[in-house]
Amino acid sequence: MENCLFCKIIAGDIPSAKVYEDDDMLAFRDINPEAPCHVLVIPREHIGSMDEITAENSGIAAKIFAKIPEIARLGGCENGYRVISNCGADAGQTVFHLHFHILGGTKLPVTVLPKA
Ligand code: 5GP
Ligand code: ZN
Repeated sequence: MENCLFCKIIAGDIPSAKVYEDDDMLAFRDINPEAPCHVLVIPREHIGSMDEITAENSGIAAKIFAKIPEIARLGGCENGYRVISNCGADAGQTVFHLHFHILGGTKLPVTVLPKA
């Protein structure tokens, strides 16, 4: 897809620090990490967000989830990790190519909401 940042990373037009790749997916380090281990996993196929997952294309989500434990270990999340996919405006999605954040490498705060 034109003008999609993560499609450009998949094409190799934008460099990334790769953690894992195969025919279906790519995992690379987030450029602005929010934890010592912060890896993004994306399908090679352009899917805009969780909102665009259907019965027809959900196989890639299953493949990604089956690989996440290995990717998390490769990325340095040895003692556990959190998987997040921001979808849409309220979640603060900024790149509209489906991606799963793997966060770990430290004890993560329990809440995802800012403290009052
Ligand atoms: P979102 O906010 O859509 O859930 O997550 C997008 C993520 O992509 C952000 O955490 C951001 O730091 C990361 N990101 C944005 N541009 C780049 C880039 O060019 N390279 C890498 N590796 N990560 C990026
Ligand atoms: Zn894309």
